[in-house]
Amino acid sequence: MDSTLLSNLHFVFIPFLAPGHILPMVDMAKLLAKRNVKVTIITTPLNSIQFNASIKREIESGSPIELLLVKFPNAESGIPEGSENLETLPSMDLKINFFRALDILQKPIEEVLEKLSPSPSCIVCDKNIACVADISIKFNIPRILFDGTNCFNILCNHNLHTSKVYETVSDSDSLIVVPGLPHRIEMRKSQLPVIFTPGPDKELNAVRERVRTSEATSYGILLNTFEELEGEYVKEYQRVTGHKVWCVGPVSLTNKDDLDKAQRGNKNTHIDESQYVNFLDSWPPCSVLYVCLGSLNRVSPEQLKEIGLGLEASKRPFIWVIRGAYRRDELEKWLKEDGFEERVKGRGILIRGWAPQVLILSHKAIGAFLTHCGWNSTLEAICAGVPLITFPMFADQFYNEKVVVQVIDTGVSVGVENSIHFGDEDKFGDGVLVNRDNVIKAIEKVMGEGEEKEKRRERARKYVDLAKKTIEEGGSSYHNMSMLIEDIMHIKGLNQS
Ligand code: UDP
Repeated sequence: MDSTLLSNLHFVFIPFLAPGHILPMVDMAKLLAKRNVKVTIITTPLNSIQFNASIKREIESGSPIELLLVKFPNAESGIPEGSENLETLPSMDLKINFFRALDILQKPIEEVLEKLSPSPSCIVCDKNIACVADISIKFNIPRILFDGTNCFNILCNHNLHTSKVYETVSDSDSLIVVPGLPHRIEMRKSQLPVIFTPGPDKELNAVRERVRTSEATSYGILLNTFEELEGEYVKEYQRVTGHKVWCVGPVSLTNKDDLDKAQRGNKNTHIDESQYVNFLDSWPPCSVLYVCLGSLNRVSPEQLKEIGLGLEASKRPFIWVIRGAYRRDELEKWLKEDGFEERVKGRGILIRGWAPQVLILSHKAIGAFLTHCGWNSTLEAICAGVPLITFPMFADQFYNEKVVVQVIDTGVSVGVENSIHFGDEDKFGDGVLVNRDNVIKAIEKVMGEGEEKEKRRERARKYVDLAKKTIEEGGSSYHNMSMLIEDIMHIKGLNQS
């Protein structure tokens, strides 16, 4: 593509303020800037810490990428200073304040946009930041939605909304067949995203509905997925909605060297990842289980105990990321009193902070990943050719479980039957969804010797190459990013000048 035309383009990225949304958008922004398109990421100061260092390296290497900050409206939204994202909210009662804060950001974002040069050609915005719909109308700039999931997910949601099949069952345990899909996908009503089973909070429900309807008025949808993974779903979604869709993933593969992989998402750039690498180096290929239930980790301490005791009983080496959002003190108390860490010493490592997940998953010693099925984690495992043990809890996670267990058949379910929606954990008492026996059974189904396990590993390994090639020149995701760039050029009239 002509470099002077490209230099007139300017993509603005506005990520939702949670690690699982920021990380893929930053990766995507880096990939786009590598194509010589100017990219500006707008976020708040505390959210920028987790990717600042990597952006600096991109700038030093000549990428036309920039980071601009707007102040998070703590005082105006009633969120204490020091908390600027969903992960660090001191209480889930502040969830609605958080969404109000995103609306307050409209004015500061507009002020930034007014000063940008060249003026923005389009805004790529996380679907959860609803005020950008108004900004794009005001500035007459196309708004492209970044949806942090995949085509399987958005097709399921679309077909459920249009068919309303979930309204035909009242019992939350009842199974629903999601209509119009290439596979027969059955879900319990209670496993569907919260928009299908709204709670009593009218303001939150209105936010969700606003987010959902803003999809229809966007210029198109950008997804961190790839056609070789779910081509049938990409085509079918486009067919039934007529929406423009660009699948440009897996974007985490843009982090090629170990420093980028190790630092990705970490606020502390001085972490010593060598302890994990040394541990992994000491085990044979495919023997270590990696366990991480997401950046937000909303799992109850009682449930984490069951997972821990299952890991112990499995007698396999493991790395377990416990992080710490929900009732962390109680888990720490149990760990201390029970002597768990002492008993698994030498065989198991606990990570209490941020794990260098992409680096860990790329190590040949990893044999399986017990995941909450956030889409980033799921896709990162797929790219690394690692079989999954699925432990979904809320939002899109039950859909992602189906992708892994049914569509590509590279994982097994631990057997979670009902969701506990994000922020609703206190309503569920001890919140135990599966016990240690379920955990042990799932681990034994995936790890170790046996024909079925080897076949699963082969299926998983097949995606390593497909994922790598798709973002390289000649690959479908590379091509889709070119199509996106050309499309925006076309709107700006640049390709006719
Ligand atoms: N992640 C990480 N280290 C951690 C926890 C999470 O690197 O200790 C990254 C992980 O690699 C993924 C993202 O954070 O890219 C989590 O996104 P996902 O969609 O899997 O789940 P979420 O945290 O949004 O529920």
